[in-house]
Amino acid sequence: MIWMDDRFMPESEASVSYLDRGYCFGDGIYEMIRVYGGRLYEPSAHYERLERSAAEIKLSLPYPIEEINRIVLELLKRERLEEGTVYMQITRGVAPRAHGFPAPGTKPVLMAYCGAVKRPVEAMAAGISAITRPDVRWLRCDIKSLNLLGSVLAKQEAVEAGADDVILHRDGIITECSASNLMIVKDGVLLTHPANHLILNGITRAVVLELARKLNIPAIERPFTLQELTAADEAFLTSTIMEVMPIVRIDGSPVGDGLPGSITRKLQRAFEDTIPSPQRR
Ligand code: PMP
Repeated sequence: MIWMDDRFMPESEASVSYLDRGYCFGDGIYEMIRVYGGRLYEPSAHYERLERSAAEIKLSLPYPIEEINRIVLELLKRERLEEGTVYMQITRGVAPRAHGFPAPGTKPVLMAYCGAVKRPVEAMAAGISAITRPDVRWLRCDIKSLNLLGSVLAKQEAVEAGADDVILHRDGIITECSASNLMIVKDGVLLTHPANHLILNGITRAVVLELARKLNIPAIERPFTLQELTAADEAFLTSTIMEVMPIVRIDGSPVGDGLPGSITRKLQRAFEDTIPSPQRR
């Protein structure tokens, strides 16, 4: 079941206009919300980020957030989704192809669907590998824009190198991963890039920083270098889909002792405690 053209429809009926600005220019924004035990995880934070992304690209949402939330909840209900994700995107609509904004009154197009996605429990226990690559994306990575070519090309390099993910750096300063934020631990201190225009301010990142505060793990939001990454005791990424994911190999060398670190595991467990259990529904 998909929401498009102002209604629910089966996947087979959904189609995109060849003049949709999302299709032609990547002119739009998106969000992805986790579903645990049939419920949305941190929905307000995701909707706030959606509204912020829309405002930053001067896009007015086709419906109020409350209405978008009703559509999303109805999707979950119709699909009887227990564990998965909801994806939604809004483009600047369908209009003759020209770079400037379309004529006033052109309606933005909302598309949303949900699907089953399991928690990556095995990978979270074992850890994953990553390569490092230059961050060639634009300078507004704080906007969750549909323009993802920089991330797509970087992730494909990881795939071709036989690694699980890619860590991006701008002139030697680590920013984030292709679809997640990066944190490292050195001498018991957590480091992560500040939430400015060079990274997406992840919802999971915020949850983890708050958990670190509660657990008295010192956390500093400051830029750090490739050299600091190489010398880190622990490294992990955070995202809606990957949660708190240890990175145990970077560019072929082990991180610390090559196993998920103790602070990483502590934060993983604390994160898991924030997930509503089916019993608590
Ligand atoms: N950075 C980028 C570039 C992303 O695409 C994502 C995934 N949305 C994240 C960070 C992590 O954000 P979140 O924790 O909100 O999923």
